[in-house]
Amino acid sequence: MPLPSRVVLADGRTAAVDRGRPPRVRKRDPNWKRPGRRRVLAIRDRLRELYGQPVNDPHGHPIAELIRTVLSQNTNDRNRDVAYARLRERFPTWEQVRDAPTDEVEAAIKPGGLSPTKAPRIQEILGRLGEHPDLDWLAEAPREQALEYLTELPGVGRKTAACVLIFAFGRPEIPVDTHVHRVGGRLGLFRAGASFDEAHDEMRAITPPEDAYELHINLIRHGRATCRPRPRCGECALRRMCPWYRERGRLRQPAGALPAETT
Ligand code: SF4
Repeated sequence: MPLPSRVVLADGRTAAVDRGRPPRVRKRDPNWKRPGRRRVLAIRDRLRELYGQPVNDPHGHPIAELIRTVLSQNTNDRNRDVAYARLRERFPTWEQVRDAPTDEVEAAIKPGGLSPTKAPRIQEILGRLGEHPDLDWLAEAPREQALEYLTELPGVGRKTAACVLIFAFGRPEIPVDTHVHRVGGRLGLFRAGASFDEAHDEMRAITPPEDAYELHINLIRHGRATCRPRPRCGECALRRMCPWYRERGRLRQPAGALPAETT
């Protein structure tokens, strides 16, 4: 079936379907300008100085990544991992997970929280993947087709779909979680007030494919370490390149609190 030339985004706007080029998203904020390559690379390099250069090691197990990401919703990494390990121990195959009584799946994943919601969702997802659940074809599928297929699964959004593509196959996606959304927005990588889906499109548009994994991981690290919900701008090595700091962060710092600029 031929792909449409344009798709409707979550906020009602339209964007060109990817055909090997980054998607074009219409900009509505007159005060925001899409950052150029030099600026993106400067941010990448500064983050690299702080957090190193993480290297992606795709594991090749898309269903495992999909289910792990569903389990990660509204919980921390540790509880997600415990829930996932218990699920795989109790049901070694995806067919067994799919066909098990739901209350047994729920019991297995209980440490991950929200198990009454996640258990039937996981079984419904697996039920959509065919008699012998398989997502290996996503490795070679056109990007829009892969994203469309994944996001039509129950409870699967752009972030989860992006996680499957980048962590299982090393395809260049930048999952936009709450850290990437907060830090990227403050750094002006996408416009203020952008939805998660718009931020995803923008991040992919501005990021060289070979830097997607690194930028994703290091924006998260920066969001956990410094650019927290209450940002620690006074100790941030990116503040000279940060529009949020220029506009607001400086006003928030107590007099004399800023160390000498090192950037
Ligand atoms: S200067 Fe402040 S707002 Fe900007 S990236 Fe650093 S911590 Fe975040």
